[in-house]
Amino acid sequence: MDEIDIAQNHWELLLSARINNLRQKATGADASATECEECGVEIPEARRQAVPGCTLCVDCQEKTEANGP
Ligand SMILES: [Zn+2]
Repeated sequence: MDEIDIAQNHWELLLSARINNLRQKATGADASATECEECGVEIPEARRQAVPGCTLCVDCQEKTEANGP
């Protein structure tokens, strides 16, 4: 049982790493916006690295998620 759990965790890690890699390749290295599309505030480098492809600042992102379905 334990071996199966370990193997499954290993696969999930590999898969998510692959998906992240593919996503970064698909969106391009500099896909993250330097400024928020909504309010134009500068998006910190740390956020752009943490959230590749983000186009909104933290505030607008939270608002969008709050209004979402
Ligand atoms: Zn914003």
